[in-house]
Amino acid sequence: MLEFSKNDFWLNIKNVLQGEFGIEIYNSWLSKFNFVSFNNQNLVISVETQFIKEWISREFLNGQKRKINGQYVVLKKGIKEILLERLNIKSVEIIVDKNSKSEFIQESINNVHSISENGNVCNIGTELNQLYTFENFVIGESNKLAMSVAQSIINEENLGFDVNPFFIYGEVGLGKTHLMQAMAWEFKNKYKNKNVVYLSAEKFMYLFVQSLQNKDIETFKSKFRNVDVLLIDDLQFIAGKEGTQKEFFYTFNALLSDNKKIIMACDKAPVNMENIDNQLKSRMSSGIVVDILKPDYEMRYKIAKQKAEILGLKCNDEVYEFIATNIITTNRDVEGAIKKLLINQKFLNQEITIEVVQNVLKDNLIANKKSINIDAIQQKTADYFKITKAEILSDKRDRKFSLPRQIAFYLSKILTKKSFPEIGREFGNKNHATVIFACNKITKELEIDIEIAEAVDKITKMLK
Ligand code: ADP
Ligand code: MG
Repeated sequence: MLEFSKNDFWLNIKNVLQGEFGIEIYNSWLSKFNFVSFNNQNLVISVETQFIKEWISREFLNGQKRKINGQYVVLKKGIKEILLERLNIKSVEIIVDKNSKSEFIQESINNVHSISENGNVCNIGTELNQLYTFENFVIGESNKLAMSVAQSIINEENLGFDVNPFFIYGEVGLGKTHLMQAMAWEFKNKYKNKNVVYLSAEKFMYLFVQSLQNKDIETFKSKFRNVDVLLIDDLQFIAGKEGTQKEFFYTFNALLSDNKKIIMACDKAPVNMENIDNQLKSRMSSGIVVDILKPDYEMRYKIAKQKAEILGLKCNDEVYEFIATNIITTNRDVEGAIKKLLINQKFLNQEITIEVVQNVLKDNLIANKKSINIDAIQQKTADYFKITKAEILSDKRDRKFSLPRQIAFYLSKILTKKSFPEIGREFGNKNHATVIFACNKITKELEIDIEIAEAVDKITKMLK
């Protein structure tokens, strides 16, 4: 009985950490933990080496806080804050225990292996998803450019300009990983004797750090220098990680000068990546940079239909129309809606009528309908600062009015799709330069002024 509850408790901790940090970080770092004891709300965990302890302590244990106007502001949560908040665990201690049989070793062996079965590039790639193929990839206005470039790279067409490296960017859930893995499958089928490696930037860092720890950087280098096609996902992860960037830069140059293919995905364009070395940035943009956009109606419809077919959801076209009309965010959300319906069909034996769809997807739909408009931003910002909307729209220069106005400009820019001139017009015909100035100013001040940070946070919550 006791044993059971301890396991449960430990499992719960791991689930919480996995949920908060995401599967990649969890698998690479946090799964190294072993449970030692839990007394008086103090948790003790062990890891195998001093190195791992230091790394985790530095990167993940404590959140990032900054003292602003005498108060601490949390910028990023760490393990300690998360466990306190979620499970009321008061302190966390990490000890080193060489014998602690870390589950992570088994986990990483399971998770990490090369796509290629031959050659010496083992243990550096990540397994591909069987479903992420071109056959299952819907093409529409939002991704046809990325798709065409991908095809021409695979077919080695001569376009008269350099398409290597290929850099794909776009928001989360729009199909970057799917497209990359589909490319990886194609390369793998096409070149049976070549080393095709797909991995996340995070895993690249993990392997790099591990090689430093094992004083085996040469093996690391030679493994990556022997790759023929390198597909590296979620590049945003290397922001601020100088050592990893440097190593990536070397790898990158070595592969490019050997005419090897490099394909990258990131949540932003290279120019918009922060804390990335400029040389690396310009290298990454030296081939072709293409974005994937939000899906239009037609694309959402096709994705809904295709996912329903793959997953075995039985429903009629009306349901796809409904989803395509109402789930307007990302491809992933469209897929999520289908999965939700599938669960209802499978476990509750429900027939999927429009009424059922409306009911099952209630939360998803409300979230979409409640889209934030500039009018609401002006009103809520005025409410928050206890002034009137007319004063927000006025030309009054007193800080009492100018600060709320600037915050409202800023919120309009980040929460709606309106352009600077459009925002200006809706604020009583202000010049677009005034809007740009305000947005830049608030962006900077957010980091150093707790009053502003708090206002932005609270008003955003009021709007949602
Ligand atoms: P990203 O890497 O951009 O965050 P993913 O590639 O992980 O997005 O896509 C999220 C989910 O949506 C995946 O399950 C994927 O199969 C699906 N998806 C995204 N784009 C498409 C598409 N064009 N066709 C079919 N499914 C897609
Ligand atoms: Mg992805």
